[in-house]
Amino acid sequence: MSKDMTISVEPCEQVYAATGLLAALPPRRNGATLYVCDFDNTVATEDVGDRILERFGGPDWIDWSLRYRRGEIGSRECLTRQYESFRADWDAYRRFVEEYELDPDFPRFLAAVRARGHRVIVVSDGVGNYISILFEKYGIAGVPVFSNYGVWNGDGRVRLQFPHFQPACEVGCANCKFRHVRLDGSGRKVYIGDGVSDQYGAQAADVIYAKDRLRDFLAARGVPHTAFSRFADVIVAEGLED
Ligand SMILES: [Mg+2]
Repeated sequence: MSKDMTISVEPCEQVYAATGLLAALPPRRNGATLYVCDFDNTVATEDVGDRILERFGGPDWIDWSLRYRRGEIGSRECLTRQYESFRADWDAYRRFVEEYELDPDFPRFLAAVRARGHRVIVVSDGVGNYISILFEKYGIAGVPVFSNYGVWNGDGRVRLQFPHFQPACEVGCANCKFRHVRLDGSGRKVYIGDGVSDQYGAQAADVIYAKDRLRDFLAARGVPHTAFSRFADVIVAEGLED
C-alpha cells in the first residue's frame, strides 16, 4: 500500500465499482439517517482493543500498530501479527474488558436517534468480542455491530475471523468500513470516529464528526468535518436533544 492510497476513497470506490455493487444500489431513501459509529475511543472512552493487547498480547504489539499507522501494512496484517502472541483465558479477558466504560452520553444518543426513526450501527476494525461485553454491561441491545472477531481455542489462543474483509482491495483493512457506509441505502449518512481505520468509511458519509487522528487526517487533506470530543457534542450538533 503506497502513501498516496491513504489520500482519497478512490481505491475503495474502484473496488466496489468493479464488483457491480455500486451500479446495483437502489436510490437512497430520503428522511432516514444512518449514524455510523467507530467503537474504540469513540463509543468507548478508551481504545479498549489496544489496552487488551497491552495486557494479553506480546511486547511487539505496539510496533505493529505503529507500522499500521504509518501506512506500511493494512489492519488485517497488523491484527494477524499482533494476535500470534496473544494469550488470554476467556474469563480473565471478560473481567478485564468489563472494567472499561462507554461514553456516558452514548445511551442517550442511541435513544434519541431511535426515537426519531433513524439508525445507529457500530463499525470496528478491532477484534471486537469486547464490544458485546461492554454493550451488555450497559444494557444496550439491538445495535448492529460490524467487526472482526476472535474464536477462543482451549489454550487461550485466538483464531481471527474477518467477515467484512474485502479481498479485492489493496489497502488491506481487516474490516472494510467504507462498505458499511457506502452500500447503505439511507438518505443521509453521518460518521463518528477518531482513528486511522475510519479514514475511508468517514469519507463515504455526508457528514463527519472527527477527533484525534481522524481529525488530523481530514484537516490535512481539506476534507470537511466537524470536530467533536464526546457524544454530548454530537447530540447538540445533530439537534438530538429532548
Ligand atoms: Mg477508534
